[in-house]
Amino acid sequence: MDSKKRYELLFNNINQYNSDEGTAGITRLAYSNEEQSCTHAFMRMCMGEHLKIHMDQCGNVIARREGKVKGLPPVVIGSHLDTVYQAGKYDGVVGVTAALEIIRRLNEKEIETDHPIEIISFACEESARFGVSTVGSKAMVGKFDHNRYRNITDKDGVTMEKAFALCALDFNSVEQASRVNEEFKAFFELHIEQGPVLINQEKKIGIVTGIAAPLRLHLKIKGKASHSGTTPMGMRRDALLGASEITLALEKAAKQEEEFGTVATLGVLEVHNSAMNVVPGDVEAKIDIRSASMASRQRVLDYLNATIEEIKINRQLDIESIEISNEEPVLLSEAINEQIINICEDKNISYQVMQSGAGHDAMNMTKLCPVGLIFIPSVDGLSHHPNEFTSLDDIMLGIDVLEQAVLHYSKADATNL
Ligand SMILES: [Zn+2]
Repeated sequence: MDSKKRYELLFNNINQYNSDEGTAGITRLAYSNEEQSCTHAFMRMCMGEHLKIHMDQCGNVIARREGKVKGLPPVVIGSHLDTVYQAGKYDGVVGVTAALEIIRRLNEKEIETDHPIEIISFACEESARFGVSTVGSKAMVGKFDHNRYRNITDKDGVTMEKAFALCALDFNSVEQASRVNEEFKAFFELHIEQGPVLINQEKKIGIVTGIAAPLRLHLKIKGKASHSGTTPMGMRRDALLGASEITLALEKAAKQEEEFGTVATLGVLEVHNSAMNVVPGDVEAKIDIRSASMASRQRVLDYLNATIEEIKINRQLDIESIEISNEEPVLLSEAINEQIINICEDKNISYQVMQSGAGHDAMNMTKLCPVGLIFIPSVDGLSHHPNEFTSLDDIMLGIDVLEQAVLHYSKADATNL
C-alpha cells in the first residue's frame, strides 16, 4: 500500500475513538475510556510493527525499535492522542501517527538504524480535563507535582488520582516514569501550527526556534462609582476608562516588539456592579503576555507598568497588579533547526523559522536532550475546534521532513547536534 493511503487509514482509525460521536468534534479526554481504548489500539498497532511496548505509571506509551549498534541512546518522536472537548482531528494525533508511519516506512524498506528509535504517545497533554497540561512529559522529566495534582478534579468531581486508578496506573509510583537518568540522542515533535502564520505566508514547514511562555497578570482597578448624569466629566474616577487605556497601551507595547514574535492580550474584563447610569468604579482585568524572548516580554511589562503609574495619577485610580504566572520561555536546538533547514532546502520545500505561542510536550523534553519541533499549516489558524484542518498532502510533507531528520540523527556519526 502506498504511504499516503496507509497513513490516511491510520489517521481515520485513531479518530474513531470519540466520546462525542454524532457531533462534528472529537472528544478524547485524558484517562477517559475513549482515550484509553485509543491508546491501547495504538499500542497494538506498534506491536504489529514489532516494536517493544511499555506503558509507564503516568500512562505514557513508549514503543521502541532497536538499533543495530548496542548501547546508543534513542532518537525519540512523540506527541499526544488526548484532546480538549469538541476538538479537531489533528492536534497531537498528527505527531503520534507520523511517528508510526515513519517506523512502517523503515520496516518496509528494511532499514536498520544505528540508534534505536522510540515513539512516545504522551498522556494528558491537554489541560481540558484537569486544568494541567503536558502531564505525561512533565512526569518523564521528573516534574510531576504529586501534592498539587493528587486532588485536582475534573468537572464531574473525579480526582486525578482516581482517574489514574481507573486506568490501573499507580499515582504514587509516577516517579518511575521519570527518565532523567537516561540518555537521549534527540527528540522530535511534528505538530499542526494552531496559528495562521504558515497558511498566510504560504509556507509548508514551520521550524520552531522557541516556545513562548506566558506572563499573566490580574489587575484590580478601583475608582469611584458615581451617577452618570450628575458627575461632571472632569470629576470622575472611571475605572473602565483606566482599563481601556491599559488595553491600548498593551497593544502598543506588544506591536513595538513584533519582530520578536511577542504578543499581549487583555482577554478578561469584568465591570462590577455595572449599570448604564453608573460611572464604573470597580473593574478587574486579566492580561497574558507571551514571547520566546524574556527581554522582549520584560520590555512590554515595563511599558505596561509605567502606563499604569501614569493612569493612577491622571485618573486618580487605585490599581493593583498581581502576577498569576511567570513561566520561562524554552529555546529549541539551533543545530537541529539548521539540519531541518538543510532538509527543506534539499527537497525544495518552503519553510518559515518561527516561534510557538502554544505549549507542547517538546518544551518539557528540552530538559532531557536537544529538541526539534516542526509545524505544518493549520487552515485559518484554527485549532481546538471541530473545523481544525490540515490537508493530507501537507501532513505527508511534514512526515517526509521528519523522517529525514530522524534518519539523519539515527546515524552513529550524525553531525549537527
Ligand atoms: Zn497538541
